Amino acid sequence: MKGHESKMPRMEDILNLPVQDPPCTEFSAADIKWNVLLVSVLSQGGRDLKEVSANQGSMDILSIHYTGVHMVLKITEIVSLVLGMSQISNLPQGREADQDAVGTRAMYAPRISEELRQKVMSMLYVGISLDNIIQHHMEVVQEHGGPHNRDDFLTRNDVRNIERVIRNTSHELHIDDECSVKVWVQRHQKHVFYFQDASGSEPFLLGIQTDWQLQQMLHYGHNGSITSHSTFGSKKLKYPLSTLLVFDSSQNAIPIAWVITSSLIGQDSHKWIGSLAERIRTKDPRWRLNAFLVDDPSFGISVVRDAFQCRVLLCVWHVRRSWIRNLLKKCCNIDVQREMFKHLGWILYSSRSGPNVMDAVEEFLEIFVDQSAFMDYFKSRWLPYMEMWVGGIRSLPVVGPEPHAAIESYHLRLKYKLFKEQHANFWPRIDWLIHSLTTEFHSLYWLDQYTIETGYLPNIRDESFSSNAWYQALHIPDVDVILDEQNLQLAKVISQTDRNLAYAIWNPGSEFSLCDCHLSSQGNLCKHVIKVAMICKNRQVARPLLAAQIYRQTLLSLLHNPPDDPVVLDHAISSATRLQQDIKGLEDLSNSGLLQQLPSEINSQIADNALFFARSH
Ligand SMILES: [Zn+2]
Repeated sequence: MKGHESKMPRMEDILNLPVQDPPCTEFSAADIKWNVLLVSVLSQGGRDLKEVSANQGSMDILSIHYTGVHMVLKITEIVSLVLGMSQISNLPQGREADQDAVGTRAMYAPRISEELRQKVMSMLYVGISLDNIIQHHMEVVQEHGGPHNRDDFLTRNDVRNIERVIRNTSHELHIDDECSVKVWVQRHQKHVFYFQDASGSEPFLLGIQTDWQLQQMLHYGHNGSITSHSTFGSKKLKYPLSTLLVFDSSQNAIPIAWVITSSLIGQDSHKWIGSLAERIRTKDPRWRLNAFLVDDPSFGISVVRDAFQCRVLLCVWHVRRSWIRNLLKKCCNIDVQREMFKHLGWILYSSRSGPNVMDAVEEFLEIFVDQSAFMDYFKSRWLPYMEMWVGGIRSLPVVGPEPHAAIESYHLRLKYKLFKEQHANFWPRIDWLIHSLTTEFHSLYWLDQYTIETGYLPNIRDESFSSNAWYQALHIPDVDVILDEQNLQLAKVISQTDRNLAYAIWNPGSEFSLCDCHLSSQGNLCKHVIKVAMICKNRQVARPLLAAQIYRQTLLSLLHNPPDDPVVLDHAISSATRLQQDIKGLEDLSNSGLLQQLPSEINSQIADNALFFARSH
């Protein structure tokens, strides 16, 4: 503390220095008007500034000047450049940086931290102006009690430099897409958790996870769930994109990893899933995943179980979406659309009650034989996979419709951002896809979480983040749902904006529900469908779960027909034990909105169907 008083006048002198505004953003010593005082400050490597400010509360003075007088910043920049042995040439005096000043690096480091750089970059990518970035930064610095380190002295030049980097960055790092991707991978090793170049019989496989995504996975994935959104853009992109998502506190799906592969999603999942699990365990060995939701039965279920030691559930969101979108396009009668949609749901669940899936499909094709446009689509796109899907539904618990809404929001945002017509030329390039995902698209999600965590920049937040139907459904009061438990064919939800209006929901409680509101009529999931599904689930808490019924059935058949082979018996017992563990976990999932419970009406319809099949065959 000794001797600081004598330095105080110098601090004041510094702050009284006239503001100099060099002619351009990059300036050298020749552009500065030098005087004895300025040179003396520089020759001491800014030590005086640091000591005086730290000990005499002069931070406030500095911060006042930070907002009003650019000179202090210019000095800071110059001092930091000197300390960083940077480009300033022809410095009149004090050419050598003071060795004692090494400890002041935190304050006068030549560059801002990587973290702040990423933050500014994200802000620029979402379209926040330079002025607003500086203003926001000053607010943040003021709030935490004034500047303490180099980051707090973020200058317009820092932002301009980052802006320039963004402007000069192209997705095309090489004219050849393949080479371009390799260069990207080379430069972003930290964000690549798996890379395999296509060669011979080996498919192309790239797994991307940024630091920020890893943080989100640690935060929201712990004791939570991860869901896959796979094979996006298989028609437009060179290779389809798969995303792993977590759900935040507003029920939004956040992308925590991207996988681009030329093979089928399940085919090589064993290669990258292990790497990803390893990566997260290295960060936090106590990290535990509750459930992994696969959206394709061929995903590699045992690989997921091994890697994450968690329950695996099946999510039929994209089956639902494909079916309803095609029904809307290919059948013009709304009643027929509803009937067919319901029937398609029965086919998926049919095998749970007995009949052969192909018999159920056959019946469907016969009943709706006149809907040839849809049938052609169904036969070519789905028929070859129906056995696999039904098998998946038979062996895995199915997630309820709530997360479907969050997945759908993510899907729509991805589509909106990537498939703008102006990008059409780039769709066949993988480097473009990587670049788009890791810059602009990534920044959107960064901003949303930043707003949620800090409360800053609420006006810039993308409104669509608060409009996912799962989140909105949570705000509909139970009393606004009219449900006749004796007739579960139809439910009603009173409009939240017009109390005289009520929406009708067909096939309530299942993922094959439809509503007559605008959103649902376009094939999207609406809050009414989700709300009704929540109510149906809650009112059935006391009834036995469908999975529990299947478990009982399995045990009974095991008792009636015990296998002779002890190996088979062992296997059966271990399967039964695993199923039992699954059931124990179902209640947690049910509480977090992740588990599907079929309304009893649908169960009985399936049972009726089963009887019908039993009778007719
Ligand atoms: Zn609706």
